[in-house]
Amino acid sequence: MTLQTIVETAALDAFRLSLFSGGKKLAFVPTMGALHEGHLALVKQARQNADSVIVSIFVNPTQFGPGEDFNRYPRTLTEDARMLAEAGCDAVFLPNIATIYPEDFQTWIHNESLENQLCGASRPGHFRGVLTVVLKLFNLVRPDVAYFGKKDYQQWRLIEKMVADLNVPLKVIGSETVREPDGLAMSSRNRYLKPEQRPAAVAISRGVKAAVEKYKAGELGSQVLISTVAKEIALQPAIAVEYLTIREQISLAPVGDSIKGPAVILLAARLGDLRLIDNMELNPSA
Ligand code: AMP
Repeated sequence: MTLQTIVETAALDAFRLSLFSGGKKLAFVPTMGALHEGHLALVKQARQNADSVIVSIFVNPTQFGPGEDFNRYPRTLTEDARMLAEAGCDAVFLPNIATIYPEDFQTWIHNESLENQLCGASRPGHFRGVLTVVLKLFNLVRPDVAYFGKKDYQQWRLIEKMVADLNVPLKVIGSETVREPDGLAMSSRNRYLKPEQRPAAVAISRGVKAAVEKYKAGELGSQVLISTVAKEIALQPAIAVEYLTIREQISLAPVGDSIKGPAVILLAARLGDLRLIDNMELNPSA
């Protein structure tokens, strides 16, 4: 199968129409490129559950704050196209900046409850940029189903909420985080991790995993679980924790002292110039 490259919206419409007339199910995976196995897992899951798969690659300037890494965000288009073709993707959509943000652009999507919490607290405007671009991509691509990684847990939940609140006619699916063999959650930015920073980076997932194990063994105290993560990370002085919290899975509301329903441990940390995020769900056993 050959990968179709689509830049103009008219070509996108033609691609969409060819499926629509056949009544086929279209799955969509929005990305910023610099693809890795985490992205490909979404593509493969999409492949299994739909007739056709389209991936977008767009490094969205409005989700980067001033001083963040928009300019040095990795761009590896040739390699990305090769990986997508191999993974059985049908089309890659590479919108121009003018398609997404024409000069007189004025309309933005906000989540008024959660956009300034967790990652939003240290990245003002980030989720406004994410939600706006994702809704635009949804409207351009008009997929039946869209796949997002649980790696970006808050992003996934905010997109689910946007789709529900605004009656966007598609289904959102969250896919499990793909990790390196040492536990580090895969990320396009990991290529900037220096070898000497690796042990510190790996302590994050090790700490969260240790808390998940304690939870599975019956520990429901949120402070005990948070301290379990914090202790492991404290062994790595290079890591500065930005937030470390346990929230309810769907609403992302804080949990009480004792965890009652499905919850998730979420954290963000700085390691040199890099900002790393990770999370793991705490699912009550049936
Ligand atoms: P990005 O290119 O970083 O915007 O990511 C595009 C999509 O891939 C988002 O839905 C991410 O949550 C997802 N993703 C990124 N890294 C991973 C990972 N390690 N495992 C699963 N999904 C991921």
